[in-house]
Amino acid sequence: MTSSLALAIAYEDALEEAGMHADERTTCYTHQTWAVECADRHLPLTAGRALASLREVGRVRWRAAGAYGRP
Ligand SMILES: [Zn+2]
Repeated sequence: MTSSLALAIAYEDALEEAGMHADERTTCYTHQTWAVECADRHLPLTAGRALASLREVGRVRWRAAGAYGRP
């Protein structure tokens, strides 16, 4: 990551916290890059994708709680 990209991300993070809409960003918080470089990596949210994410969160929590591998 270049220093100008890091500065732009930090600047837009602050603008977003101050009320700027996320769609106005020229950087991507998720991918830590310029928005034009990852536009094709953002999939629209669907019910199936949301449920899959929730199942993944549950699985990670279950493993973190130490349930994985117990007799
Ligand atoms: Zn992105």
